[in-house]
Amino acid sequence: KESRAMMFQRQHMDPDDPSNNSNYCNQMMRRRLVTEGRCKLLNTFIHEPLVDVQAICLQGNVICKNGQPNCHKSSSRMKITDCRVKSNSKYPDCDYYTIHKERHIIVACEGNPYVPVHFHASV
Ligand code: 5GP
Repeated sequence: KESRAMMFQRQHMDPDDPSNNSNYCNQMMRRRLVTEGRCKLLNTFIHEPLVDVQAICLQGNVICKNGQPNCHKSSSRMKITDCRVKSNSKYPDCDYYTIHKERHIIVACEGNPYVPVHFHASV
C-alpha cells in the first residue's frame, strides 16, 4: 500500500526544472494520477531536490490551518508550479493553468522518519 509519504512524492515532487510547456499541468496531473475520480482544483508541484523538501520538516514550525501543530515553512523560497483547474473543464478532461512561482512553501510532516505527507500552502 502507498504510504502518505509516497503519496506526497507522487502528487507534489518534480525535481526537474520548471518546464516551458503550457501543457505541463495537464500532462503531470494525469501522469501522476492526481485526476483520478475528479479534477482536483489546485495542486502544486515542487521543482527542488527531494532532500531539500524533506529538510523543511526541520525548519520553522507553524500551526496548520486545521489547528494541527505539525506544519513547517521552508526557510528559503522554492521553485513551484501551481496547477489550477480551468472553470470550464469537465471531468475526465481536466484542463489546468500552469503557473510557475518561487515561494516559501508550507508542508505537514509526520512519522519516523519525520517526512512531508501533505502540501499545505505556498506563501
Ligand atoms: P485558493 O487560492 O484556491 O483560495 O486557496 C488555495 C489554497 O491551497 C492556498 O492556501 C494554497 O497555498 C493551497 N494549495 C496550493 N497547492 C496546494 C496543494 O497541492 N494541495 C493543497 N491541499 N493545498 C494547496
